[in-house]
Amino acid sequence: MGDALRLDDEKQLRKLFYAGQQLPSPMGGFLEPLGVRHWPGGGALAFFECSASSLRYAMEIPKATRAERKKVREVQEDGGDPDCPRHGEGIRLVRAGKDLVCPVCGIAYGKA
Ligand SMILES: [Zn+2]
Repeated sequence: MGDALRLDDEKQLRKLFYAGQQLPSPMGGFLEPLGVRHWPGGGALAFFECSASSLRYAMEIPKATRAERKKVREVQEDGGDPDCPRHGEGIRLVRAGKDLVCPVCGIAYGKA
């Protein structure tokens, strides 16, 4: 996934991504998710392939904010299984080593 192009309107596309909606491709068609890769500093890069051109794109996913970590910690303290603060209900965080990570956006939101 080395030669991915960056997307211009990441902010808008991230909203669709977190909402679980299909992302429109700059080349027409839509962007099919290929997966996420961790990025130094706690963020991630999400990779996509354009359905029309087969070009590959990457979008930066920012690391967890303090508020998001707090929200996850509070659910844990109440004995619950936290969902992804961005993806919302139904996308549960999973253990990855010592971290609690969203399987869709690849961000660590807490400690397992
Ligand atoms: Zn997520």
